[in-house]
Amino acid sequence: MRNAELTDALEEARETYAQRRPRSQAHHLDAARVMPGGNTRSVLFHGPFPFRVEQGEGCRITDSDGLTYVSMIGEYTAGLFGHSHPAIRAAVLRALDVGVNLTGHNALEADFARLVCGRFPAVEQVRFCNSGTEANLLALSLARIVTGRNTILAFEGGYHGSLFTFAAGPNPVNVPHRVVLARYNDPEGALALARAHAADLAAIILEPMLGGGGCIPASAPFLATLREAATEADALLIFDEVMTSRLAPGGLHGALGLTPDLVTLGKYVGGGMSFGALGGGAALMARFDPRRGDAVGHAGTFNNNTLTMSAGIAALSEIYTPEVAIAHNVRGDALRAALNARAQAHRLPMVVTGRGSMMAFHFTEAPPRDAIEAAAGDQGLKELLFLDLLERGWYVARRGMVALSLMVGEAERAGFVEAVDEFLALRGPLMRA
Ligand code: PMP
Repeated sequence: MRNAELTDALEEARETYAQRRPRSQAHHLDAARVMPGGNTRSVLFHGPFPFRVEQGEGCRITDSDGLTYVSMIGEYTAGLFGHSHPAIRAAVLRALDVGVNLTGHNALEADFARLVCGRFPAVEQVRFCNSGTEANLLALSLARIVTGRNTILAFEGGYHGSLFTFAAGPNPVNVPHRVVLARYNDPEGALALARAHAADLAAIILEPMLGGGGCIPASAPFLATLREAATEADALLIFDEVMTSRLAPGGLHGALGLTPDLVTLGKYVGGGMSFGALGGGAALMARFDPRRGDAVGHAGTFNNNTLTMSAGIAALSEIYTPEVAIAHNVRGDALRAALNARAQAHRLPMVVTGRGSMMAFHFTEAPPRDAIEAAAGDQGLKELLFLDLLERGWYVARRGMVALSLMVGEAERAGFVEAVDEFLALRGPLMRA
């Protein structure tokens, strides 16, 4: 009965969505002639067809049919500065004045590197690249080179870029590393697996909070066990902080007082331009030193591109200062608490997990502790939440994720809580078992 009602509600919501967006639909069909499914970035696709964004300003975007939304997803954490931050704009214009594609070391890259190293405790030296995907692939290769081993221990639900993802088991497009998968937040299981593969273990890689996998924080004992397991096996512990580094001034590892051997960065650190970075202790990073006879090569035409370097300098030095990072994540904690309080007031099985400015909705009785528990939540309700919120002018990720940008103000946060409350009031009957 409930399932049939949910199916009806979803069909109606999809129909309303489609009726209000004829221009986006036409653009989608047109684009599908030259891009498979009209898409070049899988996460952005959703049924019945994705809307096309024509413009963004502050925390708002407007689609081809003139509908405006408050973006609560903030480019999956990369859009921390909103769509038109004046300091980012000025930094990009300064870079254009200096010139692009200089084909040489430039005046910006070492300044940016100093800021990154000064910020994240585990990062004494850094290499820049163009995406989080690339940063993680580089980290895994370095781990294999320095250990002379091949096995990588990763976690179910982990996302380390388009070519190394375990959102629903290994993705067929993954690079062919030898991977063993453990359950997130299961210290005993991970330790047993690390020990079983110790002789060939090159690295343990994880996000210190699952991001795309549902904003599920790692428990302290879990992370401590992984640190010990890596040390015991002489393998490297890699923290993928592409998303989570925004959660505290020194990244999540800084907040937790843990020292991974390597840290990968991406997203907002480049001020919203294409960005990735790999950092770690100076002794490890020295393998990239081209003055050494045994140097590991690491090329990349755009690694030091002036647009990213300049925007990144503005991002870390002018905008996302340590004080701002703390305040922003306090706001996120308050928003998450307010959303959970509404679900509890309605006595409905919805929980919002996360930390600071990153959070995700789950239609489960209790907060999921790993990707498997998260997947057991009602996925139909997630789609309904997504569509219902869009109709009210709020854009969250189709998978239920929220990443607050600095442009989302008090009024927007309060409005969002009310919009979710309306959803709970309207759809509550579908959620009660
Ligand atoms: N690692 C994590 C934890 C991520 O969330 C992402 C992107 N969503 C990546 C790596 C890959 O970054 P990019 O999309 O820049 O390749």
